[in-house]
Amino acid sequence: MNTMIVVPAAIAAVAGVGWLLFRSRSAPAPARRDEPEAAQWKVTKVTRETPSTVSLEFDASLEFRAGQFVLVRPTRELPWRAYSFSRAPGQPLRLTIKRVEGGAVSTFVTEKLSEGAEIEVKGPFGQFVLPDGAKSVLMLAGGSGVTPMIAFLHDLAKQGWPAKVTLVDANRSANEQILRKEIDELVAASGGKLTVVHVLDDASGEGSDKRGPMTRDVVASVLEGMEAPEVVALCGPAGMMESCNAVVRERFPSAKLLEEKFTAVVASVGADAIAHEVELVDGAKTKTFTVREGESVLHAARRAKVELAAGCESGVCGTCRVKMRRGQIDTPDESCLTAEERSQGYALVCIGTAKAPCSIEPAP
Ligand SMILES: Cc1cc2nc3c(=O)[nH]c(=O)nc-3n(C[C@H](O)[C@H](O)[C@H](O)COP(=O)(O)OP(=O)(O)OC[C@H]3O[C@@H](n4cnc5c(N)ncnc54)[C@H](O)[C@@H]3O)c2cc1C
Repeated sequence: MNTMIVVPAAIAAVAGVGWLLFRSRSAPAPARRDEPEAAQWKVTKVTRETPSTVSLEFDASLEFRAGQFVLVRPTRELPWRAYSFSRAPGQPLRLTIKRVEGGAVSTFVTEKLSEGAEIEVKGPFGQFVLPDGAKSVLMLAGGSGVTPMIAFLHDLAKQGWPAKVTLVDANRSANEQILRKEIDELVAASGGKLTVVHVLDDASGEGSDKRGPMTRDVVASVLEGMEAPEVVALCGPAGMMESCNAVVRERFPSAKLLEEKFTAVVASVGADAIAHEVELVDGAKTKTFTVREGESVLHAARRAKVELAAGCESGVCGTCRVKMRRGQIDTPDESCLTAEERSQGYALVCIGTAKAPCSIEPAP
């Protein structure tokens, strides 16, 4: 199978970032001079889509590709988070954000953000984009993972449906189906090119074609009898992605598999794990903290109240890139770091782990 992992590895880092599109992979080591600056976007509309999800529209414009995302910081006090566009390029910009239990940014956005607010945005980033010329696409979405799929669908609709598409949209319950009406409208206007299979975990199952959750058996039964697609795009919660990945690899071994994971799987590390000292040299200032084996360097720095730049925290955006002065930080292969950056001693602290003492400095 031609697998293009666009997700974190050990933790599901999503590979590739927007600025990589503009940066030569063969260029010498990457000063991030072409990394997008943060822009201020005014929120012009907040639409409640489901009890836990809102869509935001903006008085702004940006060139991007369907499937890409931006980093968003709604206030200076909050961290940056990644959100995919839920409309195609050329349509009014829209992000659709689902509240995550206890989540800092998603809770603020879904409960407090109002029209007229100005938020900081960086991007676009990401390589979760459909290859040109694909004639058949299977999209497997879970929960908020449907957002980039909706951008793909709008984009294909704008092009007059050059591909036949099946979208499997899995949700807990009917009232949590994000942009369901819009999806139905896309189906109706597609002239038979778009088919949607709705999977709901909810016992009532109303509005559902299949009963979830998307375990391997359920995924296998959803894909039963389906013709092999050229491309499979997958985005959803970690468990669903694992089941889908396994079944797709078995069923459609020659399909190109694109994956986008929204959640970083942070290994749980006990306080008694082996710890190593990390030295952060920033100009004339040096700070040290300890990192436990298995935990991310960023996580360890935060525990020690040492500040390190961070963006998507999933290995996607490269904001947290550091240069190794000594030792090694293991960054999962599928992160946005190029082979060249690795060979030149760059690492990502958000998903990188250390197995020995090391010394780092912020990347130029
Ligand atoms: C490339 C990319 C694109 C994304 N696009 C979207 C999008 O279009 N719409 C959208 O709603 N979200 C999207 N996300 C997820 C988003 O970036 C945040 O992770 C999410 O909103 C939670 O952030 P938070 O600050 O509210 O939660 P945090 O404060 O970071 O997390 C709180 C707790 O929730 C857990 N958690 C974090 N994220 C999730 C999650 N997604 N599901 C379940 N548990 C989680 C954490 O492990 C933690 O325990 C995307 C993520 C990536 C990497």
